[in-house]
Amino acid sequence: MKTSVTGYPHIGANRELKFANEKYFRKEIDIYELLETAKELAVQNYEIQRDKGIDIIPSNDLTLYDAMLDTIFLVGAVPERYRKLGLSKAETYYAMAMGHQNGSIDLKPLSMKKWFNTNYHYVVPEIEDGTRLMLSGAKPFYLFELGKDMGIITKPVLIGPYTFLKLARYTGSGKPSDYADDMIEIYSRVLERFSLLGAEWVEFDEPCLVQDLSWEDVKLFTRMYSEILRNKCNVKVLCQTYFGDVRDCYIEMCSMDFDGIGIDFIDGAFSHKFIRNGFPKEKVLFAGVVSGRNVWRNNYRDTLEWYRKMSRCGSEIVFTTSCSMQLVPYSLKYEHKLSDEHKKYLAFAEEKLGELADLKKLAESDEPHSLPEFRANYQLFETVRSGADTEIQNNVRALADVDFVRTPAHAEREKIHKTAFGLPVLPTTTIGSFPQTAEIRAIRLARRRGEISAAEYEKLIKKKTASCIEAQEKLGLDVLVGGEFERSDMVEFFAQSLDGFLFTENGWVQCYGTRCVKPPIIWGDVSRSKPVTVDWTVYAQSLTKKLVKGIVTGPVTMLNWSYPREDLPLRDCAYQIALALRDEVLDLEANGIKVIQIDEAAFRERLPIRRADRKHGYLEWAIGAFRLVHSGVKPETQIHTHMCYSEFGDIIDEINELDTDVINFEAACSDLTILDALSEHEFKAQVGPGVYDTHSPRVPSEDEITQLLYRILEKIPVDKLWVNPDCGLKPRTESEAYAGLESIISAVKKMREAVK
Ligand code: GLN
Ligand code: ZN
Repeated sequence: MKTSVTGYPHIGANRELKFANEKYFRKEIDIYELLETAKELAVQNYEIQRDKGIDIIPSNDLTLYDAMLDTIFLVGAVPERYRKLGLSKAETYYAMAMGHQNGSIDLKPLSMKKWFNTNYHYVVPEIEDGTRLMLSGAKPFYLFELGKDMGIITKPVLIGPYTFLKLARYTGSGKPSDYADDMIEIYSRVLERFSLLGAEWVEFDEPCLVQDLSWEDVKLFTRMYSEILRNKCNVKVLCQTYFGDVRDCYIEMCSMDFDGIGIDFIDGAFSHKFIRNGFPKEKVLFAGVVSGRNVWRNNYRDTLEWYRKMSRCGSEIVFTTSCSMQLVPYSLKYEHKLSDEHKKYLAFAEEKLGELADLKKLAESDEPHSLPEFRANYQLFETVRSGADTEIQNNVRALADVDFVRTPAHAEREKIHKTAFGLPVLPTTTIGSFPQTAEIRAIRLARRRGEISAAEYEKLIKKKTASCIEAQEKLGLDVLVGGEFERSDMVEFFAQSLDGFLFTENGWVQCYGTRCVKPPIIWGDVSRSKPVTVDWTVYAQSLTKKLVKGIVTGPVTMLNWSYPREDLPLRDCAYQIALALRDEVLDLEANGIKVIQIDEAAFRERLPIRRADRKHGYLEWAIGAFRLVHSGVKPETQIHTHMCYSEFGDIIDEINELDTDVINFEAACSDLTILDALSEHEFKAQVGPGVYDTHSPRVPSEDEITQLLYRILEKIPVDKLWVNPDCGLKPRTESEAYAGLESIISAVKKMREAVK
């Protein structure tokens, strides 16, 4: 029995790589110093995995910025516009990651996309017509040799050719199969090199194999690998999949010349079935039995039971993590505030290494049940842990169909709101947050450190809110917001005010590049013991005669941006959060707030990768949870929702089922095709497609917004349209934010005249 790791976190236990990167951007250190930091982190990762007894330790999982960006470099897919800059290798790498400004040159970075159903974002490769891909980088070999110098023969991990080609964007007329021959050549050379260097295993990550595959997809995969595997010389090749099961190409995978096949038994609903129906004896099964993406302890009894059944297939089994552990924090040893009672149920990356070692020992033992490792773990899962609340559980159990239905129907409500609010045509609003200036951050820090009292804090935040309301009135916006100055982060702020969540001090995980997040952990049953935003919102409303929009983070986003429980179905957890937020919404309403926005930035995050798995399951309860939050409000109350990623082209019918009155979403960057789709699907809600991108410092001109509004009006009836930026103004400076809003207001004023 051996143990392996699919990938280890690499930002540094104290985010060393993030800070080194940022220093490099600010030109405080040079590239060599940055690389030195990265090298130290690689060495530490090798050491800790070796010390914990891992047999097959990954290398090349460490990246300065993003693994996909590394692969762009490795296969020579740098787009012409970056190559033309004539920069050094490092500068070119960062130009693709961060953009490049110099004199008249203003290059945007390559775009980013969510990595499957996670909150990690990868850099999207762009392949231009006429590109010839070839082996161009040396990083995987360097990192392998680094391990070798320490006496560790690591397992190099590379994004596989199929996944790379499938995730790339083709800017011309190209398609994945056009580049198959180039990739065969590149990956064959890679294997040759590793064979010479003395590698035993090489891992090619092919998560795209868990998607819905067409016949062409399977053909592309088999065509490339049948050639590549011919050149494997002395190395063994592991085809690693994760985030689901390999339903559409399991047979092909098994019949090809891979030496190992990596399967996710945590997220792969049908993985067990496939293996039980047959797994080739001569291949090694890399069994992802320890979750790489959640923070709970592994249940040894279940895993051993699984092992007993699976070992009947007769093949060698290696225990590994279900996916790269870059999605979980480094170690519990950095958590000083979490109680031991909580900690004993948790396993971050380092603790998961211990679990793999334990599992190996138990699997090899004739009497595993008598070993202390087993007994301690068994007890943990036998005892009922704290955090249960029978009242909440009963409330969820008692939910009936009517609880999910808002009355009267949408059209009726629309009429009521039109008369009651008397808003002008093309009403203007913002998404909620206003710039989080250094001043605001300092106030929050002072409060956290106990340097100012709660009362002083409240006074300072209210002062900011008041000036924000004043500024919005001056601008002439129609539906105002409080500015969200009281919120650190849309999820953390609510989670801290609800019961049932745990927080880490140092549980950072990479969200993209240098951006890290610290997801809360859902520990127990979730409830709301006191109002969260009511005072703040009522205060903002007291300052103006205009409508102030209450803003609540939605249940699906709360769930998706936290580590969910494993002892409760996601659906029940979503409903619990929804019931807590429902109380908040009803309280806002009872306190005179007439417009309430439910933010669902991460609505689709856990959407199953395969189409067939979506409807019954995830979407059903996600829609249910959302409806539960607002179904109790009066007909006069207007419900808005905000979604960040306009990637909902394929779930428009489901978004329609949310039964919201207004939806605002990101559209400025996409090409408005989403709007055609809305009318094709008879979308009911009024819409506010974002007219400019608040993630960029660029300030749009009035003219630009006017042009865009004319284009939008070709697709959306004027009485259904709202005008707003595409997301919160939090990342912007005050001058950028106000300048952008001014452009909106002046464009809208003229448009109103024109459409009269
Ligand atoms: N209301 C939030 C804000 O304006 C929404 C943030 C988000 O969608 N990510 O900041
Ligand atoms: Zn947003």
